[in-house]
Amino acid sequence: MNPNQPPGMKVDISKATDLVCECGSKLFRPVMAIKTLSALVSPTGQETMIPIQVFACAKCGHINKGFLPKE
Ligand SMILES: [Zn+2]
Repeated sequence: MNPNQPPGMKVDISKATDLVCECGSKLFRPVMAIKTLSALVSPTGQETMIPIQVFACAKCGHINKGFLPKE
């Protein structure tokens, strides 16, 4: 039982599809993309860095387009 999983959200892992990198690897590692928000548009009035976690292939480092945040 995964303690992070909310009740009623039980996922049948056997029905999930493996995400495969274009190099054939199925292993990914978390990496951080960082966006900067300029002082002009930041709510705090200061330049702000916003880290966004994405996943890169553990073998070739490729980041699947579907992992990148939408612009
Ligand atoms: Zn790869």
